[in-house]
Amino acid sequence: MIVLIDADGVLEDLSQKWVTYLNEKYGTSVRYEDLTEWDMTPAFPSLTRDQVYEIDRDEEFYSRLEPIPGAVEAVGRLLEDGHELYVVTTTPYQVVKPKMERAIFRFFPCFTWKNIIITANKHLIRGDVLIDDGVHNLMGGDYRKILVTAPYNRNFDAEANGMIRVGSWDEIYRAVSAMAADEKES
Ligand SMILES: [Mg+2]
Repeated sequence: MIVLIDADGVLEDLSQKWVTYLNEKYGTSVRYEDLTEWDMTPAFPSLTRDQVYEIDRDEEFYSRLEPIPGAVEAVGRLLEDGHELYVVTTTPYQVVKPKMERAIFRFFPCFTWKNIIITANKHLIRGDVLIDDGVHNLMGGDYRKILVTAPYNRNFDAEANGMIRVGSWDEIYRAVSAMAADEKES
């Protein structure tokens, strides 16, 4: 199957590190677990939108990222199982290089530039399944949808919207494998 995988919050922990970065820099004490929206601006009322998004200009920030637990192993297993994997990310063009070099390609040497799709319109990409933690990215799109649980999507009714909710890379692996078995049967 063609498996489309989001980067931030799915392959690496950008969202968690983003909160820590802002807390350190501005003395705020926001907890990642308390985020209610994917857009972090409302969680930091004392900061301007520009201040919240300045990580986009700080290449050093990307060296802080770490892989989401289980991601490296599961990606390896999916490749072994013969799936075609693509990273589909809305990374701003200014930071594509640091994010790829300092995080994605470092943690997942199996990926090259040929596996990367940069777009703010994920619904236009063709594939069998999209794995994402942003509900807005999973709306529309002609593929199956796996929603990775995060604080900012926990109140969203995934099932009612045709998505499978998962909480770990183990569950992602099992969900993708079940879809593949399904497809073979039909
Ligand atoms: Mg994401």
